Amino acid sequence: MNRDPSCLFCRIIAGEIPAARVFEDADTLAFRDIAPAAPAHLLVVPKEHIASLADCADGRDELLGRLLGAAARVARQERLGSWRTVINAGAAAGQTVGHLHLHLLAGRDFSWPPG
Ligand code: 5GP
Ligand code: ZN
Repeated sequence: MNRDPSCLFCRIIAGEIPAARVFEDADTLAFRDIAPAAPAHLLVVPKEHIASLADCADGRDELLGRLLGAAARVARQERLGSWRTVINAGAAAGQTVGHLHLHLLAGRDFSWPPG
């Protein structure tokens, strides 16, 4: 599986950096965000290093589907009720960590459109 040893989330996946892990399967990991933007704020990541949804290669649709499915399972497991998913792609959109991740946010009201 493709891994970047200098990538923060690859290091969390490998267990080299601690995180509050809440869900794991063969392809995905979910853990709590270190700086939560809502009462519940989880990050769902593919275990394989993919830098961003923006440069995700063609042919990865199955993995992307697994990521979305994992997010729904985490939401049920954590009994989130209503929740929002966000994927920031690119620095101008707010992406700060270069490993594809899906934010799962819940526990407060969310405005639309997002700011
Ligand atoms: P982005 O801004 O790239 O969409 O989201 C990156 C997220 O990773 C941010 O919400 C940030 O709080 C979170 N984060 C950054 N460093 C760490 C860390 O070391 N551990 C955990 N659990 N979350 C982190
Ligand atoms: Zn990575």
